[in-house]
Amino acid sequence: TLSDRLNGIFTKLRGKGRLTDADIDATAREIRLALLEADVALPVVRGFIARIKERARGSEVSQALNPAQQVIKIVHEELVNVLGGDTRRLQLAKQPPSVIMLAGLQGSGKTTLAGKLARFLAGQGHQPLLVAADLQRPNAVTQLQVLGERAGVEVFAPEPGNGVGDPVDVARASIEHAKRVARDIVIVDTAGRLGIDAEMMAQAANIRDAVDPDEVLFVIDAMVGQDAVNTAEAFRDGVGITGVVLSKLDGDARGGAALSVREVTGQPILFASTGEKLEDFDIFHPDRMASRILGMGDVLTLIEQAEQAFDADQKEKMTAKLMGGEQFTLEDFLDQMVAMRRMGPIANVLAMMPGMGQVKDQLADLDDKHFDRVTAIIRSMTPNERVNPKIINGSRRARIANGSGVTVMDVNQLLNRFVEAQKMMKQMGGMMGLPGSRRKAT
Ligand code: GDP
Ligand code: MG
Repeated sequence: TLSDRLNGIFTKLRGKGRLTDADIDATAREIRLALLEADVALPVVRGFIARIKERARGSEVSQALNPAQQVIKIVHEELVNVLGGDTRRLQLAKQPPSVIMLAGLQGSGKTTLAGKLARFLAGQGHQPLLVAADLQRPNAVTQLQVLGERAGVEVFAPEPGNGVGDPVDVARASIEHAKRVARDIVIVDTAGRLGIDAEMMAQAANIRDAVDPDEVLFVIDAMVGQDAVNTAEAFRDGVGITGVVLSKLDGDARGGAALSVREVTGQPILFASTGEKLEDFDIFHPDRMASRILGMGDVLTLIEQAEQAFDADQKEKMTAKLMGGEQFTLEDFLDQMVAMRRMGPIANVLAMMPGMGQVKDQLADLDDKHFDRVTAIIRSMTPNERVNPKIINGSRRARIANGSGVTVMDVNQLLNRFVEAQKMMKQMGGMMGLPGSRRKAT
């Protein structure tokens, strides 16, 4: 996985003080693979990586991160920018009804989205009208009617028995109807083909001209992969797109289509569809998608938290200590524990650490309550005891136990465990680019 590969790079790069071109190239190569694996289209990947390298070269050295982590942070930030640079809400007409037209290939999730959007907008106090302008497939109208009923939203469809109407006429008539019955948002579902098709595109363009939409939302299946670019270009040129909706994000696709479509259309991704139920729907979150594309949400979270939790001072102190081979004291243990507690429940923190599998088992019993108790014990020690645990004899143990409200056995246990913890902390610290990684040249 990407995390594993990046972890390899982390290890190699640990100990370096700043980003060299070789560091940047190596990390960029891994990111490039990650993007391709996520099905971002090749030309999009090329442009993106070029921008990343540019930015990484000029970047400042962060105290808390090692070079690979820094590049990854830049990549993530840049992805979030690209995916959400101009995220916006639906643009509605000054004079209702607003018209939202849906376009996309067959099976991309348009009809489902129509229902979701109707429910979403109704929940915001709007009075939407759903319009069945897909008269291609026999059950397309019924499908929309079922969804409309579930969403509690009226569906405008050709009268049954009248034969199959013309979708352009239906769409045009729906606007008149919406005005008559005072609906403020009209959602027009349209037909799609399995592939891009001139006739379908012409029909979509005709419907567009008939309803003069405020939004043309291009719905694309996130699983679609490399083909996303062609499809997006066809709809951009054939109908004109004002916004994008990603569907089927509940699947296991990495979501590279998002990036490709965003780049090709130049239009924002407004919504994400994440299931078959009406409520499986959300406003698009660029940061989540960026993490998904990189397949490294956990690593990123850890980087962020590590950066926040360890201030530069503390880090330098620890680094100097461990680099100098000085004894890692209970005082340091306590400092680190407090910092780690700030990062969240210890189990979560451990779960996020690359390569922490083995140690995690060993620490399974170190739950949060335990950590709090350990903290209390150490706080009951004198500064001298914390630096020289060896001097903690029987009477001192009794005093400490008393002071922290635990048994002498608990204190013994902690002191025994401390030796193991020394090793563990060294390992964890190293992973976060902390102790023993870099040291200011003196
Ligand atoms: P349309 O042809 O563009 O109108 O696509 P539909 O809305 O009919 O969706 C095609 C199929 O995909 C249907 O079986 C939907 O239930 C399913 N579908 C649509 N959106 C999603 C989604 O976000 N997640 C999942 N898992 N299925 C979806
Ligand atoms: Mg449909």
